[in-house]
Amino acid sequence: MNEFAPRHGRNQPSSMFFWPTADRPVAVRGEGIFIWDDEGRRYVDASCGPQTTNIGHNNRRVVEAMRAQMDDICFAFRSHFKNGPAETLADRLADLGQDKGLTRAFFCSGGSEAVEGAIKLARQYALAKGEGTRYKIISRLPSYHGSTLGALSLTGDPAMFAPFAPMMQIQPKIPAPFVVERPEGESEDAAALRFAQALEDEIINQGPSTVLAFIMEPIGGAATGGLIAPDVYYARVREICDRHGLLLIYDEVMCGSGRSGKYLCAEHWDANPDIIAMAKGLAAGYVPLGAVLARGDMVEAVYDAGGYAHGHTYSAGPLACAAGLAVMDVLMEDGLVANAARQGAKLKAALEGLMDEFPFIGEVRGRGLMLGFDVMADRKKRIPLPPELNAGSEIAQACYDRGLIIYSRRMLDGLRGDHFLVTPPLNVTDEEIGMIVDLLRQGLGDFAPKAA
Ligand code: PLP
Repeated sequence: MNEFAPRHGRNQPSSMFFWPTADRPVAVRGEGIFIWDDEGRRYVDASCGPQTTNIGHNNRRVVEAMRAQMDDICFAFRSHFKNGPAETLADRLADLGQDKGLTRAFFCSGGSEAVEGAIKLARQYALAKGEGTRYKIISRLPSYHGSTLGALSLTGDPAMFAPFAPMMQIQPKIPAPFVVERPEGESEDAAALRFAQALEDEIINQGPSTVLAFIMEPIGGAATGGLIAPDVYYARVREICDRHGLLLIYDEVMCGSGRSGKYLCAEHWDANPDIIAMAKGLAAGYVPLGAVLARGDMVEAVYDAGGYAHGHTYSAGPLACAAGLAVMDVLMEDGLVANAARQGAKLKAALEGLMDEFPFIGEVRGRGLMLGFDVMADRKKRIPLPPELNAGSEIAQACYDRGLIIYSRRMLDGLRGDHFLVTPPLNVTDEEIGMIVDLLRQGLGDFAPKAA
């Protein structure tokens, strides 16, 4: 154990304040997909925390790159100096975004900040174009876009935003495309187009000249457990945005940085977003880092109108960007994006296999290693398990007790059942996939009698 062993261990009060975590053990070491606690217990982290540690723990190449950067300089303020790591990481993101026209990057320290940066860029672009009447941003319900007040106004979770509603301007919402809940006889594509149409209806309802943008996660995370729509949805949403002069923002904070099996999740479809918010896997938990990747011409227009009026103390810090660059090198040189696609297909098939053993699994969703499933009393009729069963926390805890970490969430008061994300690191091996599926089967088995 290192010198930071806390005075307050498991089940002891803490001087820190946050969501209560007193009953959690103290993490002391990480290696690849594993975390050890202070009692020597090993956990398989098939969640990557909140889908963050995308190349696993203690990657020596990243640690050494950070050490080398720290030996040179940890911090240089962007208003006073350029720095190599930030410039190079922006170039690398611009190369990756080139085909989508996304060639300029802004750096910040996390996902909420990236969403805030995207919102403010969108608004400043509208002002630069003389479209100051546009300020509303439509998002989806349910959804999660962050916890700062601007991002929270987009987050589609009333339980989260309601306490703060008087302090913000809650933005309009349309239903997230749960095509699995379509009426009998409607095709998946027809359902997807119906969900896309809800965007156009809402734009008209709000008054098109007041609407600035639409934001969505191309593959849903915390709020929707791997929700992905048929391809037609993405194309139609783009058409609708174009028709009414809206910008399209993809929130790839969770599904980006290679997790979906493409570096940018947007690469799965021909339609191009105007702005992408990134974080989590960008520096994979080694340091806080987020980014806004945007269309070059938008940024030029904002510059011409006086500059991008936004920033944080830690924007584009050399240490964070050096870590991000090293993570990018590991991802690219070790072929981890392709591995995410390959292992993701294997894991998805295994999760679908578990549906035969456990009838309470409702739907398996997602792509690459951005995978989730929900639990239902009736899979076909989409009737959730009774909320008092607490299936989400019970199953996640059963897995935890067996040494497997998965991510669970209940949204909209369990209206759609609880859901889970199974999102191991992108360098997960065949053997580790087998281990995850075995432990998950045991955890689900522990819960099964309660669902019967
Ligand atoms: N957007 C999405 C899609 C997220 O999943 C998250 C975090 O889970 C955020 C934004 C907010 O990121 P952060 O917690 O780094 O502020």
